[in-house]
Amino acid sequence: MRLPYGCTSKYIAAFFSRRLFTCYFRVWGRRGRCNAAAFMPEAAGFEGVSSRAALQEFSVSNGERFWAAVARHRLSWISPFHTVQDCDLSRGKIKWFEGGKLNVSVNCLDRHVHTCPERVALIWERDERGSEVKYTYRELLELTCRVGNLLRRRGVKRGDCVTIYMPSCPLAVASMLACARIGAAHNVVFAGFSAEALAERIRDAQSSTVITVNQGVRAGKVTELKKTVDKAVQSCPTVQQVFVAMRTEKQVTMTAKDIAMEEEMLKEDVVCEPAAMNSEDVLFLLYTSGSTGKPKGLVHTQAGYLLYAALTHRYVFNYHDGDVFGCMGDIGWITGHTYSVYGPLVNGGTTVLFESTPIYPDPGRYWDMVERLKINQFYGAPTAIRLLLKYGDQWVKTYDRSTLKTLGSVGEPINTEAWEWYHRVVGEGRCPVVDTWWQTETGGICIAPRPSDPDAEIVPGMAMRPFFGIKPVLMDTEDKVLTSNNTSGALCIAQPWPGMARTIHNNHQRFIETYCQPYPGYFFTGDGAYRSVEGYYQITGRLDDVINVSGHRIGTAEIEDAVNQCSAVAESAVIGYSHNIKGQGVYAFVVLKKNVDEQEANLSRQLNNIVSTKIAKYACPDFIQFVQHLPKTRSGKIMRRVLRKVVERDSNGLGDLSTLDDPAAVQEIIQGHLKLLSKQ
Ligand code: AMP
Repeated sequence: MRLPYGCTSKYIAAFFSRRLFTCYFRVWGRRGRCNAAAFMPEAAGFEGVSSRAALQEFSVSNGERFWAAVARHRLSWISPFHTVQDCDLSRGKIKWFEGGKLNVSVNCLDRHVHTCPERVALIWERDERGSEVKYTYRELLELTCRVGNLLRRRGVKRGDCVTIYMPSCPLAVASMLACARIGAAHNVVFAGFSAEALAERIRDAQSSTVITVNQGVRAGKVTELKKTVDKAVQSCPTVQQVFVAMRTEKQVTMTAKDIAMEEEMLKEDVVCEPAAMNSEDVLFLLYTSGSTGKPKGLVHTQAGYLLYAALTHRYVFNYHDGDVFGCMGDIGWITGHTYSVYGPLVNGGTTVLFESTPIYPDPGRYWDMVERLKINQFYGAPTAIRLLLKYGDQWVKTYDRSTLKTLGSVGEPINTEAWEWYHRVVGEGRCPVVDTWWQTETGGICIAPRPSDPDAEIVPGMAMRPFFGIKPVLMDTEDKVLTSNNTSGALCIAQPWPGMARTIHNNHQRFIETYCQPYPGYFFTGDGAYRSVEGYYQITGRLDDVINVSGHRIGTAEIEDAVNQCSAVAESAVIGYSHNIKGQGVYAFVVLKKNVDEQEANLSRQLNNIVSTKIAKYACPDFIQFVQHLPKTRSGKIMRRVLRKVVERDSNGLGDLSTLDDPAAVQEIIQGHLKLLSKQ
């Protein structure tokens, strides 16, 4: 199919109504004979596929046919692709749907405007409870077009990268889609990051344009986002202009680079010509922590990412037309990108953008919102579930949750107690709970209990089953594939899939070294996993020095780099430890320089300030222990394994200490740790 560029809307509408019509009859004609085709229309063309399990099998062993069929059916192309995939994992070469041209914003907006312009696309659940704002597909398209035209008028070109530093709000979504519309990449930076962290990301992305708001509002508190941007921009010579939208009424000081966004948008037309993008052009960068101090700008491209977002959103959550999808993730993280924005919108769904916190103004906030907005799929983080569990069932039961059909969990392992509560109390025992495993690098969900047969078992706290096209493998310490069940190993994915990241911005070598070289021919996730007797997967945690605080990834090296910048600090070692609400907490061991005689309490305060200034508040250590020495090997490597055991109070599990430079240091650390705990 070839759609003439410039005639997108009319042709897409005609194409889609024809396509849906034929699909309907194909499915209807075979109903009863082919259960899989009723479930996924494309399966009607896959011979021998008569169950959902067989469909998964087919998607892995006939990947090209599977992905070609879903890509043709679910995306609107300006011109068709000629090659389904051209990948070589060992060299980090990943290309999908080459030859194809499309526009992501047309897929997310225009085609739905033609079929159902007044359908609600976004519900913005503002921080102020009960003041939600709805945007129809028509309104969201208009907003996007105005932003797109404004960016174009101000010189943003195809291939540029625009940094977005905003809370979850419709204008942030419209800004992301506007970038996609005109062919610019976006780089959304979580609005909790400090000026320095923001500046580092702007510089690495080489953005000349930043979009922000005057102030953010969260849990009733105002944050000065524009001031943070002002500070960041001082050390970003590439930045030429900053668009400032108004989240509150407070006027802020505008500099020569600043542009009043809403005012300028009013001058723009509500029609904006979409750029015809190649499948492999960059859609966005998203920075995430790795095991070094420098965050990585993971690159996602157009068609493959969008298709994977569409398919996972539809099938993992069993999303149907007319459902209201509530993902609680902030747009500054990959969860917000894929399941607040791209997945629901490409599927023509209604998505809730949540600006507040689970306990503001009280611990009933989520469930009040479920009742008020009639949410059907609720997607949240274990850290929030654990927190709410402590407030008791009454906050949940006060509200009507009968609209709920699926409950999702994301970002970190969900412990059995939290899983059971989520299932029994929130979901009244009738909603499947899907524990979804994935990461910034994977673009979308890779392992989850659904899709599977409606009555297929779900084991608490397990991600369980690979998604279509995903072939997980476990590796042993000698880099061999573990073939048996009831075993644990390093989690890799054996073949490429369309949603995966393509590279690290400006550093393809680091991409290859991190993901492709540890197990040549496989994509290494950095996580460990257990495969049960039944063949289900359970994620056991990171294998590298990355920790997960309230579902937010942070490299221990990043925190150490910040701590070490304090003039009193000689060196430090940061580890994660098990925290009953946040999943993991941050524990810092700090060695001071000789002759420092400042009080430890003052130093702790200083160190926390440094971490929140250099990175973000969530990265601040929960514990800071000052020690004389760190346990090191004779070659000078810090033995974090020993520190973890001390904090877990597993002194029997300290293992062989004979390789330590100074075994006595461990005793001092154990004593210091106990003293610190006794003060809490
Ligand atoms: P991010 O890229 O920030 O989304 O973080 C991804 C990391 O979060 C993964 O590599 C895992 O370590 C962890 N993670 C995400 N989802 C799950 C899950 N369902 N179970 C266990 N860990 C998870």
